[in-house]
Amino acid sequence: MIYLDNNATTEIDPRVVDVMIDVLRSGPCNASSQHAIGRAARLRIDDAIDVIGSAIDSALDQPGGPRLIFTSGGTESNNLALTGLADPDAAIVLSRIEHPSVIAVAEHLAAQGREIRWMDVDHTGVAKIDSLADLIQSGDRPAGLVSLMSANNETGVIQPIEQAAQICRDLGVTFHVDATQSIGKVPISFRSLGASAVTMSAHKFHGPTGIGGLWIAGGVKLRPQLHGGEQQLESRPGTEPVPLICGMATALQLATSELPETQPRLSLLRDRLEQGLRSAHPDLVVHGSSRDDEGEVALVPRLPNTTCLSFLGADRQSMLMALDFAGVACSSGSACSSGSSPPSHVLLAMGLPAEQVQSALRFGVSKFSTEKKIDDAIDRISRCYKRLRQNRAVEN
Ligand code: PMP
Repeated sequence: MIYLDNNATTEIDPRVVDVMIDVLRSGPCNASSQHAIGRAARLRIDDAIDVIGSAIDSALDQPGGPRLIFTSGGTESNNLALTGLADPDAAIVLSRIEHPSVIAVAEHLAAQGREIRWMDVDHTGVAKIDSLADLIQSGDRPAGLVSLMSANNETGVIQPIEQAAQICRDLGVTFHVDATQSIGKVPISFRSLGASAVTMSAHKFHGPTGIGGLWIAGGVKLRPQLHGGEQQLESRPGTEPVPLICGMATALQLATSELPETQPRLSLLRDRLEQGLRSAHPDLVVHGSSRDDEGEVALVPRLPNTTCLSFLGADRQSMLMALDFAGVACSSGSACSSGSSPPSHVLLAMGLPAEQVQSALRFGVSKFSTEKKIDDAIDRISRCYKRLRQNRAVEN
């Protein structure tokens, strides 16, 4: 199988597995226990936090400074951010292309009477940042929270986070960034991001599933959503999963230290895939782009590993199944909604024609992809596409 679904999850790095096995084999690990074994577990967590702090350029050990709350992953971090940050009565502003773990929470809060204000995106998939200040200030009272993802999981399109942070700072609004897809693919400094809170998830950067974090800037208050123990300063009680925390720290350290080599390699492999497919099928639509009068495609800044393509004349679900059968793993949208696979809310928000939405697939390469696998994938994808198109032509 050629795995090109790395925005859904990544293969765990063997070096992370080694660290986790060591910790798993080291014996009981409850960092709250008041004996030597408990203290050893606490030390492992403290070390992991130091490693994570250096990797994201944010000192996490200063009293009153930024802190990291370990969660079960991106979904929980996003839930915690939306429900736990800012005044619970103030409106929330979010873009229409956020991950379902943001949108569904917002809809849940809206059903309880919370006002949600939506920020539109343009046809390339970039949030219309010029509307943000008005959205914050419109209505009876200013919004209390803005949530914007750093890069979209379906198109890879990078969002105007710095501008959003500046606007939120000027207007005194709490700003949450879902950085789940950016970490390990593009450089990101939490210190200079200007966010109040940032979501991360280890399995997106070759770490284990089931662990993530919500970084909180110094002085930002959070209402916990779980109650029960004093762990993590009561922000998120429950016995800390020490092997997962150590795995996440190692994965993050590797992802950020190796980024200077990984980032250009990911770009090269993604571009190879895109160009190979486009030269075989010139009418393929690359999302996150616009065409000028001569038909030249101009791409907006995207994550280096991601491409979202519409195979006009083919249905995305049929394409996905044909590719699965042919040994290529990709996705027809967010993995979290692919069970039922409704049309992508991201592509719909971009105002794309139905034919493009119906035929869109997402491919994501990783550091474990190779040129050979990409060339092989181009061949298999091309063959599937040609066959489906021919079948469609016969049916019509
Ligand atoms: N946010 C984004 C942008 C994502 O891509 C994902 C995973 N698809 C999540 C949040 C949820 O992360 P997790 O799978 O760790 O719950």
